[in-house]
Amino acid sequence: MSGLDTSVQYIKGVGPKKAYRLKRLGLERVEDILYYLPKDYEDKRKISLLAEGRYDDRNLYKVTVKSSPSLTKPRRGLRILKVQVEDDSAVAQLVWFNQDYLRDRLIPGREYLVYGKLKKDSFGIQIHNSEFKPWDGKNTSQGITPVYGLTEGITNKEMTKILKTAMDEYLQDVKNVLPRDISLKYNFIEKKEAIKQIHYPNSPESLIEARNQLAFEELLVLQLGLLRLKKTNATNKSGVSMPKHEYIDRFIENLEFELTDAQKKVLSEIMANMGRESQMNRLVQGDVGSGKTIIGIIAMYNAVLNGQQAAMMAPTEILALQHYESLVKAFNNMDIKVAFLSGNQTKKDKELVLLELAKGKIDIIVGTHALIQTKVAFNRLGLAITDEQHRFGVRQRLTLSDKGVSPDVIVMTATPIPRTLALILYGDLDISIIDELPPGRQEIKTYAVDNSMEERIYKFISKQIEEGRQAYIVCPLIEESEKLEVISAEELYVRLKNSVFNDHEVALLHGRMNQREKDSIMIEFKNRRVDILISTTVIEVGVNVPNASIMLIMNAERFGLAQLHQLRGRVGRGGYQSHCILVNNSSTKLSRERMRIMQSTNDGFKISEKDLELRGPGEFFGTRQHGIPELRIANLIRDIDILKSAQKEAISIVNNESWITNDEYSSIRESINKLFSAKTDEIILN
Ligand code: ADP
Ligand code: MG
Repeated sequence: MSGLDTSVQYIKGVGPKKAYRLKRLGLERVEDILYYLPKDYEDKRKISLLAEGRYDDRNLYKVTVKSSPSLTKPRRGLRILKVQVEDDSAVAQLVWFNQDYLRDRLIPGREYLVYGKLKKDSFGIQIHNSEFKPWDGKNTSQGITPVYGLTEGITNKEMTKILKTAMDEYLQDVKNVLPRDISLKYNFIEKKEAIKQIHYPNSPESLIEARNQLAFEELLVLQLGLLRLKKTNATNKSGVSMPKHEYIDRFIENLEFELTDAQKKVLSEIMANMGRESQMNRLVQGDVGSGKTIIGIIAMYNAVLNGQQAAMMAPTEILALQHYESLVKAFNNMDIKVAFLSGNQTKKDKELVLLELAKGKIDIIVGTHALIQTKVAFNRLGLAITDEQHRFGVRQRLTLSDKGVSPDVIVMTATPIPRTLALILYGDLDISIIDELPPGRQEIKTYAVDNSMEERIYKFISKQIEEGRQAYIVCPLIEESEKLEVISAEELYVRLKNSVFNDHEVALLHGRMNQREKDSIMIEFKNRRVDILISTTVIEVGVNVPNASIMLIMNAERFGLAQLHQLRGRVGRGGYQSHCILVNNSSTKLSRERMRIMQSTNDGFKISEKDLELRGPGEFFGTRQHGIPELRIANLIRDIDILKSAQKEAISIVNNESWITNDEYSSIRESINKLFSAKTDEIILN
């Protein structure tokens, strides 16, 4: 164990109590501390002029105190200390709140160095709660100093001290990871020095260089790990070869629609891959409604025709059941046994399914997470498909495929990730993209409105229903909440069913209902016995009812762009003109911008790019839904250029097999193991 793995509590001056607090910041080991990036820096190298400071700028000023400080008590508990100061350019007021003791430290006529955030308004310039010290002839301030993200019970001063001690004690343990030729090529400095520069940069330029160097290293390690995983899949694991069966074309001809060119292209990629003995690992990405399901069905059919079993996993029971029904319909009159598995089936039903699955009597199984439980065993699993893969982690995807001996794997998702990023995030997968919607789809019309339009919206919905269409109404909550001013599905259901929609069939659907209720409501909606489905986001992904043409989203401000796009994707799945109405009750700039984006495009890729811009990558990738290890320094969006060069280097490294054994790469191999094993424990390299 290297010193870097030492628990933070053993850093001098930390101890168990502070260690506990540091844990809240995710800082558990010395290494975490060394890598804890400051969230900002204070630059006290240069003395600025008051007149030149812009609002909210943090700067160092040299000022003369003009008058005795004055203390006012505008109300109980609030005491304001003010003092007039000036420099060569302007007059300003220093202001402190509840810090009376500073009064005697400011002597009229003397000069001080003052550091703080500038406020400027019609009353002049103010600096609130500034730090200051007497001027002694020269600027002795430490140059650029770090400002850390903090947690209760730890001040920036303490954090700075912890960092300093940790660097003094452990920086020597930091080893260079990058191979020498790469360090030379990019002019990199020693890794220890780069870490030091991150906390105490010599200049803003050296900070950027050090940060970029560490980001490069991190991304190179990530890329190598992913490439390595991909290579393991392609070479080491050989599965069954399942060449395209002669019945496949006939099956496609008998479909009630013709496949789009994009679907044909993706299908031929899949068929070619299935035909090879090596294991397939393929991501099928296509916007909502692009027709991914049928691709999965055909692939499963081909597996069965080759004597194998196939499995399809979906993130919600509603979606799993929908797939089950599509499969039953598709293989109607054929000698193919399709089964369904979910956590909510009766024990008896489940046991029967499990038994037949293990015996190999079931050809195709569809289900929820229930499919990856340990007791699920297959007889000869040849193909494992995960639908809406972004809802699962890498590990879950791998758990399903572990149920067979290197079965082929397809994961499907509509989460539109910019292509470059997809390649990186899913670096261990091949990618097929369905970049075309089936013909005859009309652009969904999207409107953003506020509460005042409600009556008109309901009239519009009634009219559409009279024309034979159906509608979804989505609410953010199930039940009424006292805390939030947000409409709940239950509330709205009761209200609308007994008023504007009392002539229509209205149903309620939410995640807390039991499976049987949910299923029967979805079936009724599908069969048009229900006109209006009032629901929570349980219908967010995958649900397919082509006759539905209206999606009304209440409190749309509470949903992210990607989610709104998924919800909108529930309509516009047939030939009818569809409408998406977003009721936005927020007047913040962010929510208005979101609504504007939703109105301006139906293109999932464009929306995801905007989403990234608005939310920032932290949140976009925040939940680790994409299953990649967490990065400390690098940022997958902002560092796209660094990422590209890291990717280039990674490819040239793996092309030369010797990296697996060469000593020059031993540190990098160790880093890969660490990055992947700590968080995802799925690849351990030799
Ligand atoms: P998603 O890609 O969102 O999973 P689905 O697979 O649920 O989309 O397909 C959406 C709808 O489009 C379904 O009703 C499906 O039957 C239909 N569909 C799929 N492919 C075609 C096609 N080539 N032509 C016409 N309709 C299609
Ligand atoms: Mg789907």
